[in-house]
Amino acid sequence: MLQRFEMKPLYLWQSESWQSLQGLRARLPHALLLKGAQGIGKLDLALNFAQSLLCEKPHADGTACQECSSCRWFEQESHPDFRLIQPDALAAAEDGEEKSGTKKPSREISVDQIRDLSGFANLSAHCGGYRVVVIHPAEALNNNAANSLLKTLEEPTDKLLFLLVTHKPQQLLPTILSRCLSFAVHTPTREAGAAWLAQQGVANPEQALAQTGFAPLQALGWAESGEGSEERNILLAAICKPAKLDALALADSLQRSAPVHVIHCLQQWCHDLTSAKLAGEVRYFPEQAAEISKLADSVASAALLGFQKELLAARRSAFHPLNPRLLMESLLLSYRQLFPA
Ligand SMILES: [Zn+2]
Repeated sequence: MLQRFEMKPLYLWQSESWQSLQGLRARLPHALLLKGAQGIGKLDLALNFAQSLLCEKPHADGTACQECSSCRWFEQESHPDFRLIQPDALAAAEDGEEKSGTKKPSREISVDQIRDLSGFANLSAHCGGYRVVVIHPAEALNNNAANSLLKTLEEPTDKLLFLLVTHKPQQLLPTILSRCLSFAVHTPTREAGAAWLAQQGVANPEQALAQTGFAPLQALGWAESGEGSEERNILLAAICKPAKLDALALADSLQRSAPVHVIHCLQQWCHDLTSAKLAGEVRYFPEQAAEISKLADSVASAALLGFQKELLAARRSAFHPLNPRLLMESLLLSYRQLFPA
């Protein structure tokens, strides 16, 4: 069964978004696009909203009662009036399945997954109320799936609500966007994000938060997986001193890091270099502010921009690089060449 999710209560920083969502309840559109940064809990917000719409006796603030039979079905992922559509790769990850040797699960939402909905969309609700479909992440819809969804959205059914969750709305078909009411989910403040991470037992919550571009859930994920701890420190120490940087040796020590994380870190580093150069500020690496400001003086803007483009291109292929080691070496070499020897 691919409908895998874990219900989590609303996060502290979501109360404003929650109230705005509740405000829509009286006149719900057929489709709602929940958009905002990655790793801030958009899916959890959508799931909570879906559960609350299906709940028989929601609380005064609109949250689900967690006790009625509808809430229990929802928790058990067996509510007949609810569907979660996500790529197989995500469902498999949440299953904790690591099937070696078998075909890699898809990172896309396929047209079959959307077609399977047609029966659901045409039936009336089992419980007489709403039926809700959450599509996450909506940018994973491939072309055929998006076109198929569009047909469903063009012939809206009463009391059928689509919740599309995305951090890349620009990748969705304009025709789909035009059928959705857009709802911006806000990134939590630094204080709220760091306080939550501290509660979760993350050491250096401010730093962890800044590293992910202020996305608390992503920061927690990285902290829990140990992502970026040791390797990240090695990387940071090396890029602070580009004159001494040995690209081959460094690529060697970063072998255990996913290329996408190294690239992400370099992107944030370049952001801070640019920002230090232009505005005298750093965002992601406050602890290295002094080194960054020194480096910013010696790097040419045009060269930096060129390197950022290289990173962007690398990021696009970072999930399946042909040769991750070679990619790392070439990026680190380019980085080193930004600075006069
Ligand atoms: Zn309930």
